Amino acid sequence: MTRLVLASNNAKKAGELSALLEPLGFEVLPQSSLGVAEADEPHPTFVENALAKARHASRATGLPALADDSGLCVFALGGAPGVQSARFAGDPRSDERNNELLLSRMADCDDRQAFFSCTLVLLRHADDPQPMIADGQWAGEILRSPRGDNGFGYDPLFLLPEMGQTAAEIDAALKNTLSHRAQAMRHLLARLETTGL
Ligand code: IMP
Repeated sequence: MTRLVLASNNAKKAGELSALLEPLGFEVLPQSSLGVAEADEPHPTFVENALAKARHASRATGLPALADDSGLCVFALGGAPGVQSARFAGDPRSDERNNELLLSRMADCDDRQAFFSCTLVLLRHADDPQPMIADGQWAGEILRSPRGDNGFGYDPLFLLPEMGQTAAEIDAALKNTLSHRAQAMRHLLARLETTGL
């Protein structure tokens, strides 16, 4: 097995990624289990933040590292909240306050188009000049009030027009096959299967 450090402390993400990567011979270790603190995410793009997180984890452990960064991009807001998605409404972080702020910023917007975006970066070592980068986008529309209790973040406002349901109304298993994260993961796995690390 090749040991791989995951630059995230999210136990759910670690479990999901482990299940996908183990059959390819990777043991996924959350960075917290190796005593690595969270990296800063100061950059304006998902790819730069994912790269910074992966490099930080790889540098601290000497292992290959996988990081992801994701968020919601709204056309009418020039791509906001984007990399600020988790902390859109400031501290304390709250999905509910983020959703309220999004609705108020979009109160006069007729264009409701948006997409979730996820970028994954896999570094063989901290100074790897050619990281593996994979991304995924999931298109939808922002409702004017929340619907559904599943999921997290902006899911209750994110309508999937062809299904007539929000990301918080569909079940978790279906979301895990359709989402931006699932798409990015499929791209990365396809690459790993054909070229290896
Ligand atoms: P992270 O990639 O886990 O740091 O997520 C960044 C932020 O983007 C989250 O805190 C959410 O606000 C938002 N986000 C990312 N993915 C999703 C999703 O699948 N549903 C809803 N919100 C999401």
